[in-house]
Amino acid sequence: MPRIRPGRVRTKNTNRREALRLSSMAPEDYNVRPGEVKSIACPDCRTWRRIMGEKVLKIREHRISDKVAEGERHVLCPGTDQVVVVDIDVRRWQVKQDCLLREAMPQDTRRAAQQFYKPLPAPAAPVSQMNAEITLESARQAYLAHRTRIVGRGRSAARPQGCTRCVGGQHCPDGAILARRFVFALQAEPARREAREQQERQEQRAARQQSRPAVRRAQWAKHGGEAVERANNRCTERTSGTVSEFRGADLPMLPQNIEAHDRRQAELGRQYARKTAATSAA
Ligand SMILES: [Zn+2]
Ligand SMILES: [Zn+2]
Repeated sequence: MPRIRPGRVRTKNTNRREALRLSSMAPEDYNVRPGEVKSIACPDCRTWRRIMGEKVLKIREHRISDKVAEGERHVLCPGTDQVVVVDIDVRRWQVKQDCLLREAMPQDTRRAAQQFYKPLPAPAAPVSQMNAEITLESARQAYLAHRTRIVGRGRSAARPQGCTRCVGGQHCPDGAILARRFVFALQAEPARREAREQQERQEQRAARQQSRPAVRRAQWAKHGGEAVERANNRCTERTSGTVSEFRGADLPMLPQNIEAHDRRQAELGRQYARKTAATSAA
C-alpha cells in the first residue's frame, strides 16, 4: 500500500507544502522579469519577499516581525522556503504588465518604457504597507495592483479583474494618483541610480586613497615622532657606570630571594674559577 505523504515536496528544506504555482496568483503579486530580482508577495504574510534559487525556486526565509515591537518573539513565517513554480508564460505576463504600465504614462513620456528592463536591486516594499518609501518597484506594483486586482473569490479569482474605471490611458482618481506616482518614480530612477553609483565610486576612491604608498608612509609616520623617539631611546642599552633613571625609594636594591641569589653567585664564582684555571693551564 502506498504511503500517504504530506504534499509532493519531501525534502526537508522546504515548508513541505505543495508548490505554489504563479498561475494561481494575481499577476501583480510577483515579479519574475528577466534580469530583475525575483520577488513575490508571500501568501502567508503578504509582504514582498525574494525568490531564491536557480532551478528550484523558493521564498526566502523571513520572519513575521510586525509585532516584534510589541514584545512578541521572532516567528518564522510559514511561507518561508515555499517552493514556487513559474508555470506562466513570462513573456506574455511581462508584455501585459508593460502594456498597463505604459498606460500610466502621459503620451510624451512613454519612451521611458525602456526603463522597465533595468534590474532593480532592492526587494519591493509590501503592497499592504505602502506608506514606506516609494521606490520604483513599489510604485509599479501598486499601480499594477490597481489595474489588475483580483476581485471576488473562487473560480472568478482566477481571472484577475482590474479597476473598471481605469480604461486604457484614462484613469479614475485613485488610478491617476498611482500612475503619477509611478511615472515620478520612473523619472527619478536614473538620478537615484546615478547618485548611488557616484556614492559607490566615492567610497572606492576613498578606499584606494587609504591604501596608496604615500598615505601608508604617512600612517606609519604617525607611529614615529618625538614622543615615540624618546620612548625608543630609553630602550638603548645601559652602559655601566651611568646613572639609571630608575631611582627612588620604591626601587628594590636587594634580590628577592637572597638565599637563591647567593647560591647562584657562588655557582658562577666556581665556574669562573674553573675557566681561569683551564686557560692558565693551557
Ligand atoms: Zn511570509
Ligand atoms: Zn482606477
